[in-house]
Amino acid sequence: MNIAVIAAQGAVKEHIDAANRALRRLDISGSAFATIKKEEVARSDAIILPGGESTTISKLIHRSSVAEEIKRAAGEGKPVIGTCAGAILLAKHGDEQTEKTQTRLLGLMDITIKRNAFGRQKESFQIPLHIRHIGTFDAVFIRSPAITGTGERVEVLATLDEHVVAARQDNLLALSFHPELTDDTRIHEYFIRMGLEK
Ligand code: GLN
Repeated sequence: MNIAVIAAQGAVKEHIDAANRALRRLDISGSAFATIKKEEVARSDAIILPGGESTTISKLIHRSSVAEEIKRAAGEGKPVIGTCAGAILLAKHGDEQTEKTQTRLLGLMDITIKRNAFGRQKESFQIPLHIRHIGTFDAVFIRSPAITGTGERVEVLATLDEHVVAARQDNLLALSFHPELTDDTRIHEYFIRMGLEK
């Protein structure tokens, strides 16, 4: 399985390391690689959209036409995960901040996202989260968004306070937090297994 980690900006290397470790643990051949080239994204079997700054990432993926390839791959049923800023980009509906910054969302998941939802005092924190299908996971939140609305086809995987912070819609996964910043590879393993489900 070849996993494209969209290297526009943000936690790219950490995702590559986590995905490679997860592949080894599952004994699946293949590797994760950084790319911002649409041809390489088209050839991949799964896509990781890392965190960073969603407005910047959005500009870079649209400029390079990678955005179109991500949409095509998602439509073909390939697994796509968006973490933090990546989750913002997967959403169909944004908030006043995405509007003000004219951030173009990919609109793939029927979720509403609120940027920087956890307030100034709580800009970054780590908390054990109960995640459906995975168990308790030490989740790192960094100026994270929250999922404030979910459509019918969306499965809620985790909540924190009144917010949804992990959700799945078919082959698409949105996480408010950064699973690549801990040694725990269970989320990457779950994501990789999504690619083997059919
Ligand atoms: N606050 C960032 C945004 O809204 C996301 C932060 C992150 O990806 N760690 O784009």
